[in-house]
Amino acid sequence: MKIGILEGNGIGPEIVAATKKVLEACDLGFEWVHVPIAQEAVELYGTEVPEQSLDLLRELKVAIKGPMSVEKMKGRILLTRKDGTSHIYPSNNNAIRQELNCFACPRPARGIPGISGRYENMDVVIIREISEGIYSAIEHRIQGDLASEAVKLITRAGAERICRWAFEYAIQNHRRKVTCSHKANAISLTDGLFLETFRRVAKDYPEIESEDLMVDATAYYLVKDPKRFDVIVTMNQYGDILSDLCAGLIGSLGLGAGANIGQECAIFEACHGSAPDIAGRGIANPTSLILSAVMLLRHIGRPDMADKVEQAVRAVLTEGRTITRDLGGTATTEEFTGAIIDKLRLS
Ligand code: ATP
Repeated sequence: MKIGILEGNGIGPEIVAATKKVLEACDLGFEWVHVPIAQEAVELYGTEVPEQSLDLLRELKVAIKGPMSVEKMKGRILLTRKDGTSHIYPSNNNAIRQELNCFACPRPARGIPGISGRYENMDVVIIREISEGIYSAIEHRIQGDLASEAVKLITRAGAERICRWAFEYAIQNHRRKVTCSHKANAISLTDGLFLETFRRVAKDYPEIESEDLMVDATAYYLVKDPKRFDVIVTMNQYGDILSDLCAGLIGSLGLGAGANIGQECAIFEACHGSAPDIAGRGIANPTSLILSAVMLLRHIGRPDMADKVEQAVRAVLTEGRTITRDLGGTATTEEFTGAIIDKLRLS
C-alpha cells in the first residue's frame, strides 16, 4: 500500500523518519510516496501548497505528515488553484486540511503508567473541528492600526457534520459519553449555533450520554477531574488549545497524536508544532507521530497491528529505561525508536 509522506520542517523530518521505521517493522509492505510541500514545493512548482501535491494526496488517500512551522504574525498563504481561483489560508497546515476537505481532527490523550503521574488513568479524545472557526484568515484592521477584528465562521452544516462524526466515533470506539465544549454564554451566535446543533444531533444517539460545558470549565475539569470526560467535541481553536493541554497533562506534547480526516483523504499528524528549539538535535520524542500512525493502521483496517504498535510504545514508555528528554530521560529519538522496534519484534 502507498502512503504519502510530508516531511514538514523543524523536528518534522526526524519524527517522520522514526515513524516510517516503526511502520516498516510491521512488515505490511508500505510504499512511501514523497509529497513536496513548503520550500521544496516552491522550488519545484513555485508555490508552497501546489495542486500537484494536493492531487497526489487525493490519489493516495492516506498520508503521514510532519509538523510545519507557521511564521508568527505573518502566517498567511495565498493558494491559487488550477482553475485560477484562489484562497487565503492562515498556514500551510490549514491550507492542506481545507483544500482536501478534512474536517475532523481526533486527538486522543491516554495516560501512561510510570509517565503520566496522577493523569495515568486519563483517557480522553478531543474531536476538533478543523474546517471552520476562527482560523479563517479573514481578519481586518479597523481605523489604521487602532484595532483589528477576525471572523469566526460556524455553519449549521459544519457543526452538524462534526457533532455527528463525534457520536459515530464514540459508538465505533466503545465510548460512553460525548461532551460539547463551547462558550455560548459569551459568543452567543456562533458558539450558540454549535451548541444548538450538538443538542439536536445528540437526540439521535440516545445510547451515548451527552453533556455540554463551557470551554474554560472544560480546561478546569480536565486538570481537576479528567475521568469525567470521554469524548469532547469542540470548535477549531478550543480543540487546538485543549488538545495541547491534554498532552501536557499526560506528560508531554511529544505524546500528542492526531489525524485530519475527511471524505477525500486522511492525514495523520502530531498535535504539536515543529519545535524549532530542539530541531536537528536528534532528541525529539516521536511518540506523537508513531501513535498517529497507530491511528492510520486502524484507519486502513489493521487494528491488530495498531494494537501491537501501541502496546510496544506504551511498554517502552512505562519501563522508563529508554525515554526522551521531554519525559525526563536521556534517550535520543533513534534509541527510543529502536527500543519500540525491539519490543514490536518480541510481540
Ligand atoms: P511552531 O512554531 O511550529 O508552532 P512552537 O515551538 O511554537 O513551534 P511546538 O512545536 O508545539 O510549538 O512546541 C512547544 C514546546 O513543546 C517546545 O518547547 C517544543 O520543544 C516541545 N515539543 C513539541 N513537540 C515535541 C516533541 N515531539 N518532542 C519533544 N518536545 C516537543
